[in-house]
Amino acid sequence: MEEKFRTGYGRDWLDFAVTLVGRYTEVSQDLVDTPGQLRAWLTEWGLAPAGPVGEDDVAGAQRLRDALHGLAKAAAFGEAPTPGDVRVVDASLLDDLPVGLRRRGTSVVASRPGTTRQALARLARQAADDLTGPDPVRLRACGDDECSGIFLDPTGRRRWCSDERCGVKARVRAHRARARQSRGDAG
Ligand SMILES: [Zn+2]
Repeated sequence: MEEKFRTGYGRDWLDFAVTLVGRYTEVSQDLVDTPGQLRAWLTEWGLAPAGPVGEDDVAGAQRLRDALHGLAKAAAFGEAPTPGDVRVVDASLLDDLPVGLRRRGTSVVASRPGTTRQALARLARQAADDLTGPDPVRLRACGDDECSGIFLDPTGRRRWCSDERCGVKARVRAHRARARQSRGDAG
């Protein structure tokens, strides 16, 4: 069962929050479970640190990832965030450094994070910016009950994190449930 990194949630930190696939089920799969996987994710999202990625970075990343998911879920459902999740993200913000500018070709890019913790702190910063202030972003949980994806929903009309994966799956399940019910009604 080869799972790929998921994207399309509208923000890097929300993409990161779904690196634990199957969070709500009994068979979850952690896509950033090794230093190599974590580096691959950070690299793909333009956050590759200049320094190494170690085992303790993986533990810290997973802790932050779960806290980010907790905050996103609370915001999506209009519930109070748990103090533990707030603490973890707050602690990560201490590693956040001002982003420098570098020239690349004809444009400028953000300077590379020095350490893995600094790379992760950029995700924490993005979450903090999104969730606070006078106009916090609108988040919504995927309509598939088994999917833990939370995405940006500025229009209020999006139902699935991925129509091909979650939309189709939910429609198939609904269809089966209806079929079961009508069989039950008949017999
Ligand atoms: Zn989904």
